[in-house]
Amino acid sequence: MAVNKEAYLHLKEEFSKTSTTLIAVSKTKTASDIEEMYALGQRDFGENYVQELVEKEAQLPKDIRWHFIGHLQSNKVKYIAPFVHLIHGVDSFHLLREINKQAAKNNRIIHCLLQLHIAQEETKFGFDEYELTGLTGLNELKNVCVVGLMGMASFTDDTEKVRSEFKNLKSTFDKFEIQNSKFEILSMGMSSDYKIAIEEGSNMVRIGSMLFGAREYNK
Ligand SMILES: *Cc1c(COP(=O)(O)O)cnc(C)c1O
Repeated sequence: MAVNKEAYLHLKEEFSKTSTTLIAVSKTKTASDIEEMYALGQRDFGENYVQELVEKEAQLPKDIRWHFIGHLQSNKVKYIAPFVHLIHGVDSFHLLREINKQAAKNNRIIHCLLQLHIAQEETKFGFDEYELTGLTGLNELKNVCVVGLMGMASFTDDTEKVRSEFKNLKSTFDKFEIQNSKFEILSMGMSSDYKIAIEEGSNMVRIGSMLFGAREYNK
């Protein structure tokens, strides 16, 4: 499966005007697919599965910034702690504490995004706004730095629903940004809804199938 070079160059051009960071989501794709996109200049890649990420990291250039965008289990943090650039889907304080512990072991500060549950679907992980407000003790974790929020809209053709979910996330982001000087990243938008996400204030989008073609399996 080859990389869709045209789509990539088009997105790069589009995003250069809005200072949006493009994460190329390479889950289930091969190392050679990633190399192809690396050769076009892409450095930020997103992965969902710990073992797959660890294997790819070992084979691929060291200046790649690896984003973990999937659901992360606490017992697997140790495998990615030595190198991960940004963890997008932090959905519990327990997980954040474990990331802090593993980051300390590696003498690093790991940047994280808290995942907010914005879709009405029941299956999505994440905090709700109320829980987020109640989160205290973030500053005691010296080896993690919470730099923003991440969210996923409902999987639906109803664009107004998607837009209103993104609006909610942006307004929560704005509230927290006022209290927290380190907040700067709002990760929202995928292949199907990135345009709406950017219109609603996203500055980091995670795009897979549009760049790499459909995935063999979809989790
Ligand atoms: C797979 C995935 C993406 C990319 O989805 P596409 O529809 O292929 O662009 C983005 N974000 C998360 C969290 C994902 O799991």
